[in-house]
Amino acid sequence: MHRIGIYPGTFDPVTLGHSDIIRRGARLVDQLIVGVSTNPSKSPMFTLEERIAMVEAVVGPIDPSIRVVPFHSLLIHFARAVGASVILRGLRAVADFEYEFQMASMNLQLMDTIQTVFLMADTALQPIASRLVKEIALFGGEIDKFVSPDVAAAVRSRCDRV
Ligand code: ADP
Repeated sequence: MHRIGIYPGTFDPVTLGHSDIIRRGARLVDQLIVGVSTNPSKSPMFTLEERIAMVEAVVGPIDPSIRVVPFHSLLIHFARAVGASVILRGLRAVADFEYEFQMASMNLQLMDTIQTVFLMADTALQPIASRLVKEIALFGGEIDKFVSPDVAAAVRSRCDRV
């Protein structure tokens, strides 16, 4: 059985927490697809193209067979379109639980054949959130512990302009 998994997110920008989940997730499935959501409701700092390019740069060294694909549709429709049977999500402490639990439950009701699997990042990487990385950078703080050097440079240059 060729198992396809998708790891969906906004990745605005991709962090070391995301790459840890990608690394772990890639070992669980035969083909991992990172789905980058357009998510206009979150008013992302980076365009879809920029976010995809940053994710591609991060996944390349992990496993070049991982695909990075944009999606605009309902997650389960995207999952079905790419033939995925597993949705991977990362779980950080208790804060993510309620939202993730609700989303996974509703997705299960919409499509019972696609399972959501939750992964934990390495302890040191668990607190990392894209939102906080942007907030820290906006106030001139160091973000190098949380994102790759290229992503850190991109966030810094974006913050200089605002
Ligand atoms: P979304 O907008 O769908 O929440 P994100 O890009 O913020 O997308 O996150 C994608 C997924 O990665 C989510 O399941 C989120 O909980 C998970 N995630 C983000 N940061 C971490 C982290 N540091 N450790 C574990 N999981 C994480």
